[in-house]
Amino acid sequence: MRKKGWMTAAALLLVCVGTACSGTTEEKPERTVLFVIDGMVSGLHERVDMPAFSALAGEGVLYKEVYLPLPAHPDSSAVYPWSCSIPNPVLMSGTIFIGQAGVRQNLIQQSFTGRPTAFVVNSPSYTAIRDGFTIYRQLPKGRFDPVFPDSASVNVAKEIITANNPEFIRIHCQGLGGAGSICRQPDKPYTNDIWHAESPYRIQARHIDSLLGAFVQWLKDENLWDGTVLMVMGDHGQADGGWHPPYEPGGNVTQLLVAGKGIRQGMTIPYAEIIDVAPTIAWLQRVETSKFSNGRVLKELIGGEVPVVPHRMQELDSLLTACRRLGADTLDDEAPRIELIGRWHEGSQGSNYPAFVEAQARYLDRFGQRSGE
Ligand SMILES: [Zn+2]
Repeated sequence: MRKKGWMTAAALLLVCVGTACSGTTEEKPERTVLFVIDGMVSGLHERVDMPAFSALAGEGVLYKEVYLPLPAHPDSSAVYPWSCSIPNPVLMSGTIFIGQAGVRQNLIQQSFTGRPTAFVVNSPSYTAIRDGFTIYRQLPKGRFDPVFPDSASVNVAKEIITANNPEFIRIHCQGLGGAGSICRQPDKPYTNDIWHAESPYRIQARHIDSLLGAFVQWLKDENLWDGTVLMVMGDHGQADGGWHPPYEPGGNVTQLLVAGKGIRQGMTIPYAEIIDVAPTIAWLQRVETSKFSNGRVLKELIGGEVPVVPHRMQELDSLLTACRRLGADTLDDEAPRIELIGRWHEGSQGSNYPAFVEAQARYLDRFGQRSGE
């Protein structure tokens, strides 16, 4: 036992020399919790009373706008080998080139080789991104009465954290997205208006906020908070009329709140991209970056200057939308289309993200349609 203790101390020292003491952070977090609030639009907490989210923003870093590729929902096919909406595999792989062979085997959860990883979700829609999670728990979404019971996801997550101590856990609460979809039902006071006073989206936002607040409090009560990095974000945003039709504004922008161990407090940053999340998790947790990742590590979370970055994803979305406006009669087969995202890597740019976006912009130039940022 003695010897083992000494060995551990020596190993710790080596780790210290290798990383922490020469790097910018102390020791790595014990765990990262990726808390996905389905369909959370950018600025939600500024329009709906969400005291827990707002308080947490004061304790962490808030990326006000996080752009994702237009949140289309192509049917699973050879062109689109996923059964969930586009942003989810993009989030977990850190790339927009999600049709490449091997992407499914290189999602962020697969970078973890030490302790278990876990994925808890109250919807059947996300099985395509479950590969490689040690623990996968799929719960029913339930009925909206008077809210979708996202508490199921949070409660099971707490059980798993207690019993299995995962190094990385994705908790997916589907309720807010579900409530947004209800707003598209006809003949309601809130039809096509998620911001209506009686809108299920508003009601669910307050509900998920209370669950988030209780979850953070639970982590603190259990003495787990000090070792935790918590990331709260939507998998996509929400259109004002409800749901996330790919060409309606709102669905392609969510927000990201990061708080906890080693994270700066009370900082707001205007822009990030959904592909930045996976490589940032890998960097914070000191595991390997996912093989196909093209995203930026959000190093400013722990210190240093906030870099000025190109708004590529935002530009890509506006190019895709401009193409849609031009219509099929004007465009040829090379026109960028979100439905073909699974084949985007097959072009001459391969999976070079900046070159790909630039090529799409040049394509639209031909029509005098280049859209700015
Ligand atoms: Zn979703």
